Amino acid sequence: MQRLLGAEGALALGALIGDAGLRAAIRAEVALVRDALVTGAVELDRDALALRIDRALAGRAERAGRRHLRSVINATGVVLHTNLGRAPLGADVLDEVVDACRGYAALEYDLDEGERGHRDRVVKSLLVSLTGAEDAMVVNNCAAAVLLACTALASGREVIVSRGELVEIGGGFRIPDVIASCGATLVEVGTTNKTRAQDFERAITERTGAMLTVHQSNFAVVGFTQRASRDELAKLARARSIPLLEDLGSGALVDLASFGVGHEPTVQEAVSGGSDVVMFSGDKLLGGPQAGIIVGRAAWIERLRRHSLVRALRPGRIVMAALESTLVRYARGRATDELPALRALVEPLSVVEARAARLEEAARAHGFDLRDSVGAPSVRGAIEPSIARVGGGTLPLVELPSRALVLRADDSDGGQRSIRGIERSIRTQSEPPIVARVSDGALWLDARTIADREVDAVGRGLARALAESHASHRSDLREARPQPTLDPDEP
Ligand SMILES: *Cc1c(COP(=O)(O)O)cnc(C)c1O
Repeated sequence: MQRLLGAEGALALGALIGDAGLRAAIRAEVALVRDALVTGAVELDRDALALRIDRALAGRAERAGRRHLRSVINATGVVLHTNLGRAPLGADVLDEVVDACRGYAALEYDLDEGERGHRDRVVKSLLVSLTGAEDAMVVNNCAAAVLLACTALASGREVIVSRGELVEIGGGFRIPDVIASCGATLVEVGTTNKTRAQDFERAITERTGAMLTVHQSNFAVVGFTQRASRDELAKLARARSIPLLEDLGSGALVDLASFGVGHEPTVQEAVSGGSDVVMFSGDKLLGGPQAGIIVGRAAWIERLRRHSLVRALRPGRIVMAALESTLVRYARGRATDELPALRALVEPLSVVEARAARLEEAARAHGFDLRDSVGAPSVRGAIEPSIARVGGGTLPLVELPSRALVLRADDSDGGQRSIRGIERSIRTQSEPPIVARVSDGALWLDARTIADREVDAVGRGLARALAESHASHRSDLREARPQPTLDPDEP
């Protein structure tokens, strides 16, 4: 132990995880070596074993030194990839977040009055002016917004929902379960495919706390269908003094249809259409940080704000800073230019295509011409049409025309192994890791979700992966073939 503790890998690991952790790691590595000795897998040589253990400790140090939440390159073509953190924030927004968070910030402090303020003030006036609503507040995510609204307005009462909207959003967020956890009773009306305003009207009793509509974000119902219109439900809500809650999910502030991306109902539409409480995500089509934004009529929002759950659901200042900075881009009419997620959604195909071509050039600059067949089984790369997706459970039917750098191998087992090996290599060996997609036995790197500043890193990662693939294939061949008799004259 004393000898191992002083070696290079051990010192590196100890600096990262402390003495107790280091000793535990050494004991674990020694145990492995002991097992290997028993099975005869390693030679009994003190120096060699010590070196072997220290290398393993160095490997542990390298892994321990890496953050888990590392930045990755999204080559999947899914713009709002929930597993990759949804909307990228971009350097401009982040600079403002850093400024607001490096030291202290006026989070709940009114600088003009020199007294305590409310943290919703940070974004309230922006949200009010952007959406046309009377009031606004922010919680952790849209799921929290629905939880808060149903709890504050309908706990111990009934919530009426169409059977066509009793959906699961993902991550186990199911509308019936949420309503149950709010202490409210779900009243289902209509059918899976058809619900009318009269269905809601007939279900209203003195126990009704709210009517809830849920945007069909991640699926589509087609054919013989009908939904109660927002207009009808708003009239009904007004006449019976019941709040109409609308879970919009994505909540676009700009109409993406004007950019040829499908139509997603906008927040402005929901507000002007008469929904009393409109809830949406910060990190879907808004293109900002994870947050749940609630806008609507002042009287209802005030009831939500006074509920004790708010304290448990409020976002921290990092989120508030990023959200304000994001909303400012909308106020200035710069959202589709300056917010990376929106930019990726509306970017013209010609720009995506040019970036795809630069990916190929970057790989060449790092030593691999993808048009040449590389190795045997051969792997070749070419720019091909592809389909990018909005993601985040949003606009599931929309196909964003895109271009991808596609690596294809022949159909042999070896070819398929090469493609999977290259995918694994760019994911685990590249810095930053590159997340791409294998489909029909080919590796797709979609240029729509790759940022300009990432092009060189993708080229480097690919070149390295292909070099590895080439080398490992050659060593396979050497092992597989009978060794030629050595010619002493050969160099
Ligand atoms: C995505 C979505 C949610 C959940 O939003 P989060 O911000 O991820 O909590 C809720 N409702 C609908 C309709 C959604 O599409």
